[in-house]
Amino acid sequence: MLERARQFAAAAFEAACAADAAAAIDQVLLKDLRHSGLAMSAFPEAIGGCGLSEANRQSELCAVLRMIGAGDLSIARLFEGHVNAISLVCRYGTDSQIGSLAADVAKGALSAVWGADDAAGLRIVTLGGRAELRGRKVLASGAGLVTRPIVTAASPDGQLMCLLRLSPGQAVDLSGWNAQGMRSTATGAVELTGILIGRDEIVGSAGDFMRQPYFSGGAWRFCAAQLGAMERLVELFRDHLVSRGRGDDPYQLQRAAHCLAAVATARFWIEEAARRLGSEEAGATSIVAFANLTRMVTERSALDVMEAVQRGVGLASFIRPHPIERICRDLATYLRQPVPDLAMSDAARAWMNSPNAVGEF
Ligand SMILES: Cc1cc2nc3c(=O)[nH]c(=O)nc-3n(C[C@H](O)[C@H](O)[C@H](O)COP(=O)(O)OP(=O)(O)OC[C@H]3O[C@@H](n4cnc5c(N)ncnc54)[C@H](O)[C@@H]3O)c2cc1C
Repeated sequence: MLERARQFAAAAFEAACAADAAAAIDQVLLKDLRHSGLAMSAFPEAIGGCGLSEANRQSELCAVLRMIGAGDLSIARLFEGHVNAISLVCRYGTDSQIGSLAADVAKGALSAVWGADDAAGLRIVTLGGRAELRGRKVLASGAGLVTRPIVTAASPDGQLMCLLRLSPGQAVDLSGWNAQGMRSTATGAVELTGILIGRDEIVGSAGDFMRQPYFSGGAWRFCAAQLGAMERLVELFRDHLVSRGRGDDPYQLQRAAHCLAAVATARFWIEEAARRLGSEEAGATSIVAFANLTRMVTERSALDVMEAVQRGVGLASFIRPHPIERICRDLATYLRQPVPDLAMSDAARAWMNSPNAVGEF
């Protein structure tokens, strides 16, 4: 799987400039995702996957996300959402839901987790014994490409996950996605009113989506994709310095040293966050706190790497189609994840309330 991920990531890197310009991922690459086995990789081996979402395979998943993040962060975002959705269905769904999602993914379907709401929110209403969705999802990546998303919806019992089967003609609105980066993620609004919800659609029970430590603890996955992009930036920085004969300059060496330390720091944290979530030895509060601190460390490392690389390469790194220009736009955009202040302060609060010494926290 690692070798196939490496090949896929190399193809994604080659196609990334055109995908960014067109704000659309090449269909050939989406087919490669299927043919490489990556699309099925998160399912258990018994149903055609390679178990990448299982607890003891998190370090391998981390390596795959880093590789794809180094190839094209937009594809890494879609892959991460797809893996997250499969993990949720495998954790909380029935055998029949897992089997039906696997059968569709094997035929080329993509999944995703669409949680973000507009002010009205998505809800399940029951009229005359029929339950159906009312509302839409916003900031939904893969809108128009994904046909088997997990969506969160409010219900009288609490928040539920629904595994949908959308037709390729489902109404999507990508007009608002004029973002600086991550342009080819097809992130937009999806109208879902009228979709019937029965037992086959509801995954798990109310409250499962945000159940800890999996909800916050899984943040290491997007950090891993972001780390891949950071690593690619540092490689491109070295290529630039070597090709210009500037690699011996002490100021540039200092920048290179800071970049190396930043990516290594992020990597230690991210791999440990993945290990802790996989092993569950630490307990939910500690796993979540560690993942929240990992988000903070990853963001800081990425901002430091981008600053050093842009200052070290100079104007060329701001001119299209230099890959550093695109990767910095993508990374800066993808770093914007929900409630970063709360993630950081919750982690600090967990330690304040813990009887453990700092070394044992
Ligand atoms: C490329 C991309 C793809 C995405 N794809 C998906 C997807 O497929 N599915 C999905 O569900 N979502 C998706 N999202 C949305 C994502 O999950 C978040 O909703 C979004 O990134 C939140 O960003 P934000 O900066 O607006 O967050 P916010 O949480 O609004 O944070 C912005 C700032 O406000 C602060 N803040 C937050 N709340 C408060 C408060 N109450 N009081 C004071 N300060 C506050 C934060 O700490 C931060 O400093 C995607 C986002 C990106 C960038």
